[in-house]
Amino acid sequence: MTARALAALLWLGLLCGSPVQAADAAFTRWLESLFPAAQQLGVSRATFDAATAGLEPDLTLPDLVIPGRPDRQPAQAEFVQTPAQYLKESAFDNLAAQGRKLAEHHRATLIKIEQRFGVPGPIVLAIWARESNYGAAKLPHSAIRALATQAFLGRRKEQFREEFLLALKMLQDRVVGPAEMKSSWAGAMGQTQFMPTNFVDYAVDFDGDGRRDIWTNVPDVLASTANYFAKAVGGWKYGMPWGFEVTTPKGFDLMKSRATFGEWSRLGVKRADGKVFPATGDGILFFPAGLPGPAFIVTPNFEVIKDYNDSDVYALAIGHLSDLMQGAGPFKTPWPTQPTQLPRDDRIAMQKLLAALGYDQTRFSAHIDFKMRDFVRAEQKKHGLVTDGQPNAALMEKMGLKPTAAR
Ligand code: CA
Repeated sequence: MTARALAALLWLGLLCGSPVQAADAAFTRWLESLFPAAQQLGVSRATFDAATAGLEPDLTLPDLVIPGRPDRQPAQAEFVQTPAQYLKESAFDNLAAQGRKLAEHHRATLIKIEQRFGVPGPIVLAIWARESNYGAAKLPHSAIRALATQAFLGRRKEQFREEFLLALKMLQDRVVGPAEMKSSWAGAMGQTQFMPTNFVDYAVDFDGDGRRDIWTNVPDVLASTANYFAKAVGGWKYGMPWGFEVTTPKGFDLMKSRATFGEWSRLGVKRADGKVFPATGDGILFFPAGLPGPAFIVTPNFEVIKDYNDSDVYALAIGHLSDLMQGAGPFKTPWPTQPTQLPRDDRIAMQKLLAALGYDQTRFSAHIDFKMRDFVRAEQKKHGLVTDGQPNAALMEKMGLKPTAAR
């Protein structure tokens, strides 16, 4: 245990009015209280004891609620970097080149995956690239410890309690050994970062060796990821792109956010790469960093990528990388150099106010979806602002909220 973690644990003990062992004892008691639920999943006493013996919470993890300590936000690049940083074209060059080589190397597997799951190889490869640099990234945490810590002290205890129990079940079923069960700080495992629930729902044994191995077996990794995409939020629509960069004509009514491709075309919206729109289907127009900045029309497949990681820039990065692997060029319109995303607390404050104002805003997690962007457009119009759907400080002030930056 680090000195910092020990200090935090001491602090926790002091706040509870008890000696330092109390925090450990509380954790141990809590762990033990989970055994009946684990047993119901088929976890034996021996497996439970082996996994939890001497286990301590890892207080260095982000996203924990510890009295007296500021909440450490997860250091996920997609939530701390600006789109200009996260989507810097030069960062894609190596990944795209490597992706093309791997596409060739795993050609037969990717064709079979595309046939069985209806998910294009480049999309699956892009997820593999982003989640673990094609399997090269090493995961630092013990999944059991990370999940137990998040379930005991995290901001989403219920969700992590289920994940922790399923991780125990994975050990019981010997799908992975305890030493190999490494994860991110949030307990995501394997080369494309599956939570235990994802493993249960989507992992497949694609090479037919009898084991679902998302840790070391590339066909299993890629097929499991494709299976996720085939089943998530309505499933990947085969033959439909994720979306594309567009330009809007002069005088375009920015209140318009949803239309069929035919309608977008009639309104004078054009693809930035000069190609024609798909013959059928519809898309949502959005400005990931507000105006001025790049505009995109995205299809339901974009929402499938966001289901994997609920971030617009993440989904753009995946779509873009998959296009680059197939010979597409860089995005045309430059990203704003200044940060364009409101801080997390400000986004939540705006979500709460939108709900209070009668909008059907039901998510208060700071994640921005297309429903919220439409509500933002309506408020921007009401207050005479540019209706680009991007929540920003100007709108907060008009709505009577105080942006963090101004406090
Ligand atoms: Ca296998």
